[in-house]
Amino acid sequence: MLASDIMFKTVYDGLLDLFFPRNCLVCRGWHPSTAELVLCPQCLERIPANSPPFCSHCSRHLPARTDDGLCGDCRKNPPAFDQAWVAARYEGLLVELVRQHKFSGKTALRRTFAHIILAFLRHYKITLTADMIVPVPLSSVRLRERGYNQSLFLAQALGQYSGIPVRTDILERPSASLRQSGLGRKERFTNMQEAFRINPSVTLQKRTIILVDDLLTTGATASQAARTLKEHGASTVTLLALAAA
Ligand SMILES: [Zn+2]
Ligand SMILES: [Zn+2]
Repeated sequence: MLASDIMFKTVYDGLLDLFFPRNCLVCRGWHPSTAELVLCPQCLERIPANSPPFCSHCSRHLPARTDDGLCGDCRKNPPAFDQAWVAARYEGLLVELVRQHKFSGKTALRRTFAHIILAFLRHYKITLTADMIVPVPLSSVRLRERGYNQSLFLAQALGQYSGIPVRTDILERPSASLRQSGLGRKERFTNMQEAFRINPSVTLQKRTIILVDDLLTTGATASQAARTLKEHGASTVTLLALAAA
């Protein structure tokens, strides 16, 4: 880096701090790393990490190890993805941050969410290998409401980290997909059939895919997306998600 670049960056950062003081979004305290992540290290630590024992299929935290290594849901109704990694538990501070992110457009939180998922991968020494990274798309109606797709931002961060190409032209979500709130678990599942389709001009034969989602609630959406990818020839679908409820 040239000295002039450094100088520019310093002056620029100084001006930014002057006009947009970047204190921790939660405790309002300041720490050098806060500028990068919006949260200070103490508040970051309050985000409940996903911890072992993990369900060997969906990676949700198990209260105690089970004989087959699976959680009850995966035993009864195995998801269509082959494996999953979930970085955090959707509880406490994370619930509040996700809500802020969705409804008050605090887009700076994106970097914090990406940080959480990358820190998890580093901590468990998980190496990402796949032909492509595919974010779970939002329907165009949802996208218009929210203005952005959180899963896409996570996918881009994972792409930068791993060097694996991010493909947004593979999986499509027709806007006719029905609203799911207010439906029971079973109905949700049925409702999701047909919810995704594959761009007819791409081929997925024997491709390995990392599917990226932000939050897993029942896991039905991610499972349906994985099923659609596999029905069109994908050999392995690994799910990576920020958090699971
Ligand atoms: Zn803080
Ligand atoms: Zn499971």
